[in-house]
Amino acid sequence: MCKEYYMPTHLYMGEDCIKTNSSVFLQMGKKALIVTGANSAKKNGSLNDILAVLSENNQSWALYDKVMSNPTLACVYEGAAYAKAEKVDFIIAIGGGSPMDAAKAINLLACQDIPENKLFSMTFGSEIMPMVFVPTTAGTGSEVTSYSILTNDHLETKTSISSPILFPKAVFLDAKYTENMPIDITVNTAIDALSHAVEGMLSVRANLISDSLARESIRRIASCFESLKTGLLSKEQRFELLCASTLGGMVISSTKTTAVHSMGYSLTYFHNVDHGRANGLLLGAFLEYIQKSHPQRIKDILSAMRLGSVVEFKRILDELLGDKERLTKEEIEIYADKAAMSSNSKNSIKIPSKEDLIEILHKSLST
Ligand code: NAP
Ligand code: FE
Repeated sequence: MCKEYYMPTHLYMGEDCIKTNSSVFLQMGKKALIVTGANSAKKNGSLNDILAVLSENNQSWALYDKVMSNPTLACVYEGAAYAKAEKVDFIIAIGGGSPMDAAKAINLLACQDIPENKLFSMTFGSEIMPMVFVPTTAGTGSEVTSYSILTNDHLETKTSISSPILFPKAVFLDAKYTENMPIDITVNTAIDALSHAVEGMLSVRANLISDSLARESIRRIASCFESLKTGLLSKEQRFELLCASTLGGMVISSTKTTAVHSMGYSLTYFHNVDHGRANGLLLGAFLEYIQKSHPQRIKDILSAMRLGSVVEFKRILDELLGDKERLTKEEIEIYADKAAMSSNSKNSIKIPSKEDLIEILHKSLST
């Protein structure tokens, strides 16, 4: 298999990097659509910092602050109509994976007429506005991926739009926006980042570059395990997690995710389990499954965490996740079926059959 690595996004890192690089915004256009969730961007200082830079640059903006977690098609079509009505030249997304993913789809739909039934068919043109992203959770890495993952009610799951035109032009990584993030969101998003790095190493597309990035991401997240358990994270650790999340995004931008994500989508769609938590609930049993055919790969992953066994890893995840959701036998059947059909599952170095997926779901979450 021919392997490849591509990531065209300019990253700016460190405290106040937005303020110190205000000229970056001038290159994007005269008017921005700022895409956020309902509250966090207003509270953590990120929106204020962006507005200050736009004012200083004499640039104008419109604000679309209606993105919910796991964004819906209705949300992105509404955001696109607003972008068109406001005649914006570029998009700024501030927030977790939900506003960043929504911003990519809003941008695409504002530039191209794509009906709902064609959105996931990937048969669109190349028109797109430039984008600037400010991640404020440390988990999805969406700022460096070409994916926009949306709730797909038609298939009762989450489905990805993927195109190189969806990479943002510039990203600002400033961990000060994550400092007051509640511990449950901090843990869940850190587990999402960990899952990206681990799944990237278990993908058929894993390559020299993605493996190097993945090991570094895993090492940084594992160095925060104890603090994640206590809920007390230093400023430096917040930055470590933010960097690890971006590294994880860089991994999956070339490797994609695997069966863990495809099974996790059902937990989110049907049980409203947070995305990162959903992955965490399944990751341990997936490692056990892959270990049977690829023990050295699992050893590599564990050694990046300085752990000796999958059992130790599962113990840490159990402590971080607390009481687990439980699934009935019927639910497990349905979710295994959906995951077996997904492209993510076929991306694993060992492709799990439906029976394998039932076993992983059963081990992780049966009543
Ligand atoms: P999220 O849904 O973006 O945000 C979760 C919650 O965190 C929201 O209530 C949000 O509040 C809050 N929040 C965000 N930043 C905060 C901060 N600094 N302090 C306090 N609260 C904050 O969660 P996420 O886990 O980051 O993103 C999950 C989404 O990303 C899913 O849809 C998933 O499928 C997707 N994803 C995408 C990729 C990709 O490559 N594109 C990869 C993995 C996951 P507000 O709503 O008020 O902002
Ligand atoms: Fe994810």
